[in-house]
Amino acid sequence: MTDFIIVGHGLAGSVMAHQLIERGQKVLVLDAGLPHSASAVSVGLVNPLIGPKLNPPFMIRDCLMENELFFRQCERSWGSDFYRSIPLHRLFISEKQKKSWKEMEKNPDFFLFQNGQLNSDQYQKMGIQARLGGGITKNAWQLDVSRFLKASKDYLIAIKALKNSSFEFKRKENLQKVIFCEGFRVLENPWFKGLPFAPARGEVLSVQSGINLALSNGSWHLPGFADYAHMGSTWDHQNLLSGPTERGKQEILDKCNFVDLKKSDFPQHSSGVRSGTKDRHPIIGVHPVHKNLFLFNGFGSRGTSTIPHYAKKMTDFLLKNKSLPSEANLNRFI
Ligand SMILES: Cc1cc2nc3c(=O)[nH]c(=O)nc-3n(C[C@H](O)[C@H](O)[C@H](O)COP(=O)(O)OP(=O)(O)OC[C@H]3O[C@@H](n4cnc5c(N)ncnc54)[C@H](O)[C@@H]3O)c2cc1C
Repeated sequence: MTDFIIVGHGLAGSVMAHQLIERGQKVLVLDAGLPHSASAVSVGLVNPLIGPKLNPPFMIRDCLMENELFFRQCERSWGSDFYRSIPLHRLFISEKQKKSWKEMEKNPDFFLFQNGQLNSDQYQKMGIQARLGGGITKNAWQLDVSRFLKASKDYLIAIKALKNSSFEFKRKENLQKVIFCEGFRVLENPWFKGLPFAPARGEVLSVQSGINLALSNGSWHLPGFADYAHMGSTWDHQNLLSGPTERGKQEILDKCNFVDLKKSDFPQHSSGVRSGTKDRHPIIGVHPVHKNLFLFNGFGSRGTSTIPHYAKKMTDFLLKNKSLPSEANLNRFI
């Protein structure tokens, strides 16, 4: 007898499944392998200082801690490695930003996240154009999302807990507990599609830059785990299903002009849809009427940072009846 059906084996569904299995639950994960999934193109960056103001995102310390516990345990159990620490060079885009970095260096709250500065000449020697220099972010991480999902899939198949199948909305699933982790496809879910989601398509370009550093000026260049580096990304709220575009490629190249690409062939160019929300917090919890239907979605552009943290909260809610964090609880819209 299955305790929970999980719909979707992207990052959200897979992490949810393993947290429930770890707590002794029997799960069945359904994934239809639909195109445009966010996890299929995600570069897995965990950035502790975000936006032009370099703010630490909400609950970042808790998220980093939960990531360390969750991903390390998966690595040990599955004999694989997919979560690594990366010094992330934040290339300043304005004098104001450079000044704030310096100010932050005096504040003990930021000691965990900053590790000095480099000037433009030092970057020049590494082949990087950074007119205002940059700061080195400590405690940035990168998940090899495809490797994690492959290892998760192998494990779930071995315990007969994964089916390549679509969830059938017409069937009455009244007795089964179902957790929907469908990413932006929630827009087709009759029970949850009315919630304030704000999906955004994003593109990623693989490049042969010859530079083995993680760099960001808002857009990013990240070394690949196996071969090419990746650069991105773009935001498009309209043409969700268009796939990669010439315009997106040009936008990425323009934004990442801190790297001088020697070769202009791009081994891969992909596009996926983030399932963001209007208030930028995930939406997790139980349906107000159908108490057997649950939602775990809305992780936007920061799923790698937040999914293990919220999966733990969701598991405590499902198994121990603990309250969900108010900023993410679905009931904030009721
Ligand atoms: C270009 C790009 C770059 C990104 N980079 C980063 C990054 O560096 N760091 C970061 O933290 N986040 C990043 N993200 C965001 C991150 O990818 C998402 O937060 C995360 O992957 C969301 O995972 P998910 O499981 O909710 O959705 P998805 O990955 O979209 O997975 C949904 C799954 O559900 C399945 N599904 C849907 N409907 C059904 C159904 N009815 N029946 C069966 N199966 C179904 C689909 O096949 C799919 O596998 C990026 C996103 C994009 C687009």
